[in-house]
Amino acid sequence: MSFENLGLVPGLLRAVAQKGYTDPTPIQLQAIPAVLEGRDVMGGAQTGTGKTAAFALPVLQLLHERRSHDRRPRALVLTPTRELAAQVHDSFDTYGKELRLRTAVIFGGVNINPQIERLKKGVDILVACPGRLLDHAGQKTVDLSAVEILILDEADRMLDMGFIHDIRRVLKLLPPRRQNLMFSATYSDEIRELANGVLHQPALVEVAPRNTAAETVNQVAHPVSKGRKAEMLAHLVVSGDWRRVLVFTKMKHGANRLAQYLVKEGIGAAAIHGNKSQSARTKALADFKNGDVRVLVATDIAARGLDIDQLPHVVNFELPHVPEDYIHRIGRTGRAGASGEAVSLVTQEEQPLFAAIERLLRKHIPVQTVPGFEADFSLEAHRTAHGRPPANRPLPNRPTPPRSPAPSENASPASRNRRRRRRFRPSGPVADAAR
Ligand code: AMP
Repeated sequence: MSFENLGLVPGLLRAVAQKGYTDPTPIQLQAIPAVLEGRDVMGGAQTGTGKTAAFALPVLQLLHERRSHDRRPRALVLTPTRELAAQVHDSFDTYGKELRLRTAVIFGGVNINPQIERLKKGVDILVACPGRLLDHAGQKTVDLSAVEILILDEADRMLDMGFIHDIRRVLKLLPPRRQNLMFSATYSDEIRELANGVLHQPALVEVAPRNTAAETVNQVAHPVSKGRKAEMLAHLVVSGDWRRVLVFTKMKHGANRLAQYLVKEGIGAAAIHGNKSQSARTKALADFKNGDVRVLVATDIAARGLDIDQLPHVVNFELPHVPEDYIHRIGRTGRAGASGEAVSLVTQEEQPLFAAIERLLRKHIPVQTVPGFEADFSLEAHRTAHGRPPANRPLPNRPTPPRSPAPSENASPASRNRRRRRRFRPSGPVADAAR
């Protein structure tokens, strides 16, 4: 099945060909016809599956066919983070460059006035983070009464980040009759509730990530004593001659401290997290993408939705407290068929988290000691001590979450939501990624 068979107009087909896409991804195959038919869609798909084009292409086509001189936005995309908003906006621009539709993006952390000017000129497709969108609505600098298509991108993350009330306030500003598309990597009770309230007889489309983590990502865990992690990371980067590394920490200040340490060691590094100004985040990402910075240290939220081609190394400097986040993190490497390596630095205190991740993956992560950094505990011993089931036996239950919520960038109630989160379906993307 090709893009031509999906019924896309020539302008979109040329844009897709110029991007070098030869075949639609599974989510595109399923979602594009449903959106073109005008149906609501519930998409179970995470970053890396081609989900952005799965909604951007048909939305562009529908708006192109329903020509209008209205200045008010006709499609509204809500995203959880500024970075994702910017990337989704870029995708609309790229795919729609022959269609003469007007796109704009609005998010907080930057001057509101240029956004107001942009909105005044007229916009067909508006990509926005909920908070700044409501600021504009409050100031009457945006009019959402002509929205025909609403897209909730990464809905699970929006809920995790506490945007539910903002989303509900935005919904009240939209016309009741409209097409709704919702994408989420996971399916919690909250997502189900939101979907029930927003979607009408949706087409359910769900896929595994384009490159499932287990197939293309080489995973390894290094035991390490607590005080030596930063030193070990610097050693791995230098001795392995790693040129582009995304490093995950749990906390914002931990990300800053680590980046500063690496710079002191002569390794180009930058941190990216929610407290940084938008321009600092954009600069850090640009420096990383163009190779000026070798190591980008990020918190889970800041890294969400980042689309970085050619990312050979991902490091879990600290293990995530929600095992599913491990899959999100390592899914950042090994994309588009490239091989990638996901390295976890694990202390004795993190052994229960390590065990929970292995239970979710249903496989052992190979453990390797780094010479010169021998730790006085064994990660493998922990597996038997806690009676982990054999790797090939299906588990009746999900892994037990850690007992006390650890401080993290998206603290409760967000973290509570995440622990209640269910897989989209037993065969959902998370489960597939884990296989
Ligand atoms: P997304 O899941 O939307 O974040 O997309 C992940 C990556 O896949 C992006 O870099 C897209 O440019 C790329 N992509 C999207 N659709 C296709 C396709 N049909 N063929 C090849 N690459 C694609």
